[in-house]
Amino acid sequence: MSTTQFDIIVIGAGIVGAAFAVAMRDSHLRIAVIEPHPPAPPSAEWDTRIYAISPGSQDFLRDMGVWQQLDSHRIQPVYAMDIHGDDAARLQFDAYQAGVPQLASIMESSPLQYALWQTLQTQENTQLINAACTDLRWSTTGGQVTLADGKVLTASLIVGADGNKSWVREQAGIHAKRSDYAQSGVVANFTVARDHQGTARQWFNESGVLAWLPLPNQHISMVWSTDAAHTAALMAATPEQLAAQVAQAGGHALGELRQIGRTAAFPLSINRVDKLVQSGLALIGDAAHGVHPLAGQGVNLGLRDARELARTLTQRGKAPCGDVLLLQRYQRARQTDIVAMQTMTDGLHHLFRHSHPVLAKLRNAGMNFTNQITPLKSWLMRQALN
Ligand SMILES: Cc1cc2nc3c(=O)[nH]c(=O)nc-3n(C[C@H](O)[C@H](O)[C@H](O)COP(=O)(O)OP(=O)(O)OC[C@H]3O[C@@H](n4cnc5c(N)ncnc54)[C@H](O)[C@@H]3O)c2cc1C
Repeated sequence: MSTTQFDIIVIGAGIVGAAFAVAMRDSHLRIAVIEPHPPAPPSAEWDTRIYAISPGSQDFLRDMGVWQQLDSHRIQPVYAMDIHGDDAARLQFDAYQAGVPQLASIMESSPLQYALWQTLQTQENTQLINAACTDLRWSTTGGQVTLADGKVLTASLIVGADGNKSWVREQAGIHAKRSDYAQSGVVANFTVARDHQGTARQWFNESGVLAWLPLPNQHISMVWSTDAAHTAALMAATPEQLAAQVAQAGGHALGELRQIGRTAAFPLSINRVDKLVQSGLALIGDAAHGVHPLAGQGVNLGLRDARELARTLTQRGKAPCGDVLLLQRYQRARQTDIVAMQTMTDGLHHLFRHSHPVLAKLRNAGMNFTNQITPLKSWLMRQALN
């Protein structure tokens, strides 16, 4: 049995784990990244998983040289957001009014994952390990990971970036309170008859939240967060039926739709994790928090974790990477952002789930009010631009 020693072992190289490892490129620390399913090169087909990447996340990726590797023809800037409540309530955001070039960039998941992975492959201080883990334990000096082939790796710090059902979190005995929303996010892509003009559209009503995210070349990506029966009906629909239902639910705002690619559905839940760190361990990304996708912020929250943990570690002075007092700095820096996003998305989900007429009046009045009250609107905007 051979043992290999690192300073940091990252378990899971989704977008968040990989971005963290890239952010540590100049740290002179020895890093291992364990990922059993490395990303495949992106295909010509549009991905079903599409992200709204915030300007803050974009800056982070650009500073690391990753954004520049992406094909700009497959990225759509969002210049405006148009949010509809039931009862004709409206909330609108505009990049021009906010004094920023764009509100977000809509892009596919797989090219970003692949660009991060390619960057890691050329990174001198990083070893990529394509394997599954079978055991994980901690001692006073850090963590010890056993791989499926029996190899043992040790490090001062284990970074759990292995997604919402995190095995690392479970091995560490950190409790996560998961509440099922009894909803799924149904996703599909369409071509549209009318120019979307870089506007992201969202409709909140009792049947859930329907989002149309603009993509290049007259395409849009749909995320419909909706209950089990409606999910089953949408999944069973033919492409023509789905296109007709989605067009109707969006008030035919972009004319006729035509589906491209397949339809997929993801169960939705909120995941509140007791703590992000303990001695020798830090959690980032969906391993650290789950949020409703209605604000399209899951991956952005995770990228902010990655940036903050990297910043904490590069400013650690003489402390070992796994030092709990050091790691608590990362936790303190991230808590407010995570709780605020969970509270906002959870609150909006519950507010629009109820059909009570008084609640309907209140939420629609609230949307119209927010649309007119500049400080509140500016606060919401700042959250989105982070
Ligand atoms: C329908 C839907 C729509 C969404 N839309 C948006 C959006 O528009 N914008 C947005 O920001 N977010 C969105 N999200 C959320 C977003 O998908 C997640 O927040 C994001 O993928 C989290 O990234 P991650 O790297 O933390 O985890 P993951 O993407 O889950 O990656 C985890 C990685 O860990 C690996 N792994 C798992 N177990 C192990 C193990 N035991 N050992 C080693 N490796 C392991 C996996 O192979 C994977 O590569 C959406 C989510 C859903 C469900």
